[in-house]
Parts: sequence; structure tokens; C-alpha cells
Amino acid sequence: MLEVNAWRRRRRDVPLTGYQELCRELAVSGPGTFAELDSVGARSVLRRFSDAWFAAAKRRKDGDLSAGFPRRRRGLVPVRWYHGTFTLQGRRVRIPTAKGTPPLWVRLARRVPYPVEQVRSVTLLCEGGRLFLDVTAEVPVAVYPPGEGPDPARVAGVDLGIIHPYAVAGPDGAGLLVSGRAIRAEHRMHLADTKARRRAVARRAPKPGQRGSRRWRTYRRRSRLVEGRHRRRVRQAQHEAARQVVSWATRQRVGVLHVGDPRGVLDLPAGRRHNLRLRQWQIGRLLQVLTDKATLAGITVRLVDERGTSSTCPACTRRVSKPRGRTLSCPHCAFSGHRDLVAAASIATRTPGGGPTTPTAAVVLPEVVTHRRAGRHLPGAGQSRRDPRRPQLAARGSVGPRRPAPPPGGESLAHTARIHNTHRKPGER
Ligand SMILES: [Zn+2]
Repeated sequence: MLEVNAWRRRRRDVPLTGYQELCRELAVSGPGTFAELDSVGARSVLRRFSDAWFAAAKRRKDGDLSAGFPRRRRGLVPVRWYHGTFTLQGRRVRIPTAKGTPPLWVRLARRVPYPVEQVRSVTLLCEGGRLFLDVTAEVPVAVYPPGEGPDPARVAGVDLGIIHPYAVAGPDGAGLLVSGRAIRAEHRMHLADTKARRRAVARRAPKPGQRGSRRWRTYRRRSRLVEGRHRRRVRQAQHEAARQVVSWATRQRVGVLHVGDPRGVLDLPAGRRHNLRLRQWQIGRLLQVLTDKATLAGITVRLVDERGTSSTCPACTRRVSKPRGRTLSCPHCAFSGHRDLVAAASIATRTPGGGPTTPTAAVVLPEVVTHRRAGRHLPGAGQSRRDPRRPQLAARGSVGPRRPAPPPGGESLAHTARIHNTHRKPGER
């Protein structure tokens, strides 16, 4: 594809970019164009190329000149096969290949968690140095006994944030706060770790055009693995957070979630530090994950305008300057409450589809708040799992973790103290 388009460019022809055009080109090129890939797999490569090209074109049209058209060769491209082309057999998947070549049997590390007849497509992909089989399945929406399912009349507001990925204010004064401090710590530790690695190898980095050493290759592989692990950890924590929101909403019989859409804030011109923090927030994914899980549970998600919800007093509806901490205290009246929960309660009263931003109904503030943590699996989230990327405390002269008191009459369980000034007598200087 890249070669054909390079030739066309040299001939001053328009590049082939549309999916249909590319498929036609593939059909006339005949078998063997994509080596052992069958036409379904080849078409999925074409689709990806076409999508990337148009996404870049759109970004350039919108004024982002840093967006580049896909021109670089790739070793591995995700390839998708649809229902009817592949066969699932327990922990093995048979993937078709080009005519005259043996089919590809992929062995899986575990069983696909859906019945075979529900699987709609499989995608082979490589991320962070690991091969994955991404499965799309048709999953039925949860069914509840009569009178126990989500009630469309019960609305909860959801405020998306960085410290609290989800703050939810439900009906009857119930609230939920999901803490994302572990995710933020994971981002910070990863950034510090990556920077330290980069600094350590900067001297050995090959110059452009110079051949890299084997040591350099090892470093690159290692950093890809670390990057992949970081991404998987954050994603797992985001899924857990959304799962906690949906389970809570199901217990509260909430039928509709009003989610404040903060994507307007991402367009703000700000310093790079601000941008990195906002990018790490991954707002689109938080929304997507929550919507998917809510839909499965039979809960409707609606986006509402969230402007001003975290800076308006719910009691006297006057503007409050953005609080620095987590508590919103109104200088006009005596109101004080948790900033994110107040915002969530205001969001619950907003009309989806851009209605008036003045509250149309009385704001119900949460009185009983459930606290949950996202990312309990992350290193450093608990006492027993210290993040290995953190500098060792003991190395800085700490006495180390507290130990149990010595048994009566027995010897101390503590390590013997390391005393370096053995050549001096006590009191001698
Ligand atoms: Zn007030």
C-alpha cells in the first residue's frame, strides 16, 4: 500500500486512500499481495490504513499540522476476522490464511469467556510486546426479577474527575466516591521511572542513521514491556472503577446516569504539565467503559453539560471560586460539602442534550456516601505491596518496617544495628 502510494505520488497521482478503492486495487492485484494473509485479513489492514489516513486528514484540516499521514512501515498491524471466517475450539482459534497455505492455529492462554455462538469477531493484535486475541461478543443485557430492576425515574449524576474518577450522587441522598489516587500514583511512578531510564541510557542512544547495538535493542524491548504493563494496569483500574459505579447504581435501582461531559476542558490552551495530566485522565475511555457496563446492566447513560457544576453553590446557586481542596465552602451562605459530590448532585438535575444550565429541580445532596478505591491491584496501593519503583526507604537510613516485640526472654527479632563508627568510643569526637 505504502509503495503503491509512493509511486503514485512520484507520478503526481492522487493517493489511493478510500477503503473501497483500496479493496478494488487488492482484487486486481491478485493473490500473494499480502503474503500469507487471506483477503479478509488483508482488507482489515486496508481499513486501518484508510481510517488512519482520513483521521490525519481531518486533523490537518482542523489546523493540526503535526498530524502525519501513515507513511511508516509497520511490522505488526492488528488484523480482524469476522464471524464465519474463524473457528473457535476451546483454547484454540483457527484463522484462515491465503489459498494454498496451511491455516493458522492460535493457542490461547485461557478460554474465551463467551459461548462460541456469541463471538462476532476476533482481532489479533500486539501491544507492549505481547500478542493478544481481542474478542467481540454479543452479550445479553441483564434481566432482573420484577420490581428489582433499574427504575428509569431514578436518576443519578456522575462527575468525572482525576482524583475521583467517578463521584456519583443518587436519589434519596445516597452517594458514591471512587478514589483514583492509586491510578494517579501509578502514572507518576511510571513517568519518573521512564525519565530515569531515559536519562540513564541517553549517552548510549544511537544517532539517527546509526545502527543500534544489541544492548540498545534490549533497552527498547524492556521499555516497551514496561509501557505495556503500565497501560494494562491503568486500564484494569479504570474497569474496576466503572464496575463499582454500575454495581452501586444497580443496588440503588438507578435507571438513568447523567454524566457531566468535561471534554470541553481538553480544548483549553494550557501548559504542557496541564496537558499531560489531562491526557492521562483518558476521559473518553472512562466514559466508554462506564457506558458499556451500564448498558449491560440495563442502565441508560446520558451526557449533560457540566459547565459550572463544580463552582456553583447548590444551596444559594451563586458562583463560588474554584476550591483548592476537596471541600466546597460557600462564602455567601454557610454551605459546605464535598466538591465532586456537589458537582455530581448538580449534574443529576441537568437536562441531557444541552438544556438550561440553571437547576430545574432541587439539588439532592448525598448524605450517605460509599467510598471505593480503584486500582487495588496496583503496586503501592497497600502496605504489603510496596511499589518497587519507589526509592528504598531503608537506604536512606530508616529503621525499616516495624517488627513485633521480641518474645519474653528471647532474642530480639530485629536486624542487628549497623554501626559504622566502631573505631570511636562513646562520647569521643
Ligand atoms: Zn451558597
